[in-house]
Amino acid sequence: MSRSLTRLIEQLTNLPGIGVRSAERISRYILRMSIEDTRKLTQSILEARQNIGFCTRCGNLTEEGLCSICSNPSRIQNQICVVEEAFDIPVIERSGVYSGLYHVLGGVLSPLEDVSPAQLRISELLERLEMEEVKEIILATSATTEGEATATYIAKELARTGIRVTRIARGIPIGSDLGLADEVTISKALRGRENITGGAAD
Ligand SMILES: [Zn+2]
Repeated sequence: MSRSLTRLIEQLTNLPGIGVRSAERISRYILRMSIEDTRKLTQSILEARQNIGFCTRCGNLTEEGLCSICSNPSRIQNQICVVEEAFDIPVIERSGVYSGLYHVLGGVLSPLEDVSPAQLRISELLERLEMEEVKEIILATSATTEGEATATYIAKELARTGIRVTRIARGIPIGSDLGLADEVTISKALRGRENITGGAAD
């Protein structure tokens, strides 16, 4: 096998979910692509990597300082939906039932993987609550053991603020990521959210 091909396959297998077989299949496809299409593909990967950063307020992905949601004045400003990853935001957006703001944690608490509260953007959330007038925090971490533990931890941290804290309903099957849930499930989960602390339910 040529050295370039070996190297391409090697790079592809570094990606999640791509084994040697898949890497070989993708390589075969790439070798049949035009140079122009190949350039577009590599250019878009490079551009995404170079241009996309994190919103300074919520942690969403953005090419500006503030993301498109934080900089949109028509969003409900006193509701924050707390999610694990920025990729959960488009999933909730597609459900069309939520028009508040977000806060990205950047993961979940996991003793096994050595993820402690300090590694998540929890202190940033508490700081936001001092600056912004927030009426409700919706905890939308996934229904996994780690997701539940993270929601419980944050609810406890928020208890002293007196802000209403809710948890999305368990419409999402246990163990599945929010990112994999469909729009109907997400909208049911959001509409059926339950009070944990503070305030009165709608
Ligand atoms: Zn933002």
